[in-house]
Amino acid sequence: MYDLMLCNALLADDTTVDVAIQDGKIAALGKLPATASKKAINLEGRWRVSAGWIDSHVHCYPDSPIYFDEPDKIGVAGGVTTVVDAGSTGADDVSAFHELAQTCKTDVRALLNISRIGLLVQHELADLKDIDAQLAADAICTHRGFVVGIKARMSGSVVGENGIKPLYLAKTIQRDNGQLPLMVHVGNTPPDIDDIVNLLEAGDIITHCYNGKPNRILDEAGALRGSLRRAIERGVLLDVGHGSASLSFQVARQAMALGIYPDTISSDIYCRNRVNGPVYGLAHVMSKFLMLGMPLQQVLDCVTSRPAKMLKLHGKGRLEVGADADLTIFDIESASRPAEDSEGETAICMQNLIPLAAVVAGELLPTEQGKSVDAFRL
Ligand code: ZN
Ligand code: ZN
Repeated sequence: MYDLMLCNALLADDTTVDVAIQDGKIAALGKLPATASKKAINLEGRWRVSAGWIDSHVHCYPDSPIYFDEPDKIGVAGGVTTVVDAGSTGADDVSAFHELAQTCKTDVRALLNISRIGLLVQHELADLKDIDAQLAADAICTHRGFVVGIKARMSGSVVGENGIKPLYLAKTIQRDNGQLPLMVHVGNTPPDIDDIVNLLEAGDIITHCYNGKPNRILDEAGALRGSLRRAIERGVLLDVGHGSASLSFQVARQAMALGIYPDTISSDIYCRNRVNGPVYGLAHVMSKFLMLGMPLQQVLDCVTSRPAKMLKLHGKGRLEVGADADLTIFDIESASRPAEDSEGETAICMQNLIPLAAVVAGELLPTEQGKSVDAFRL
């Protein structure tokens, strides 16, 4: 007897599938015979399913005085099954964050800020004494599984007079701790984006990849910078990290016209840009990439299999037998809805992803919109 069955769920290629869940794992998949199940939901070939959405760059440590939110408000409430907090906490606060994360319905993970103080202030890397490699190593070791990588915010307002130095320290911490994933924020100079990117290796992640600031991936003529071309060839990865200030539709269009697509689509959401925009939620950010011309399957890959691989989230991001029973059930609404980037440009999304439910480790968690769907009223 299964714990939960989703029947006639629509996939990205418009075929339908049945999904059977047992003990928090996907137990069977395909056209399944009618089998006893504690719960069964008929999605009627109308509602869609994918592996659970993973938002690879969020801020959800409630006690951060600057970028705070609550994990379940940006997670399961928006159909997102896993959120990865990108550096809200460093070694000083990661224990408190881990404790809180265990009380959430959403699967919460963290990239440890290389600064021990994390996002207590906007300039957490301005004093090199706050980058304590031993404290970072202890935190990574103690919270392995919760801490899945490290984060370095490399922009002028963060590093103060330190220029590129914090990135050298980040690379050392990375090397000394099993070459775990490193996400690097690019923003205002200094340091210059070329100097940052030249230090990155295969698997390292550039977030805010389509930011519209002068320190962007394109040069003044709109061509891809040589440093970026070489980095992408080496296997450096691009993460969207929309945020309040870091997605330019114009840069995204230009880059994608050159064949430079994001590896992962993430929101860089926190309370303020969730409530007031322009982010609102991962689903809305995904709709923006449909609008920019990415096919649905590619958009879904950017929030499922790719972030799972990038951040080594074993068991996540795949709709296959044996994988964790993390799923997102959603609809695509055909309606004209305005969407704003971080530069004040408004475009019209014709297809809008509406999350209806998150399934986390087999537990069905309908969203506000999902609560009005009869199929979920059990
Ligand atoms: Zn950032
Ligand atoms: Zn961020």
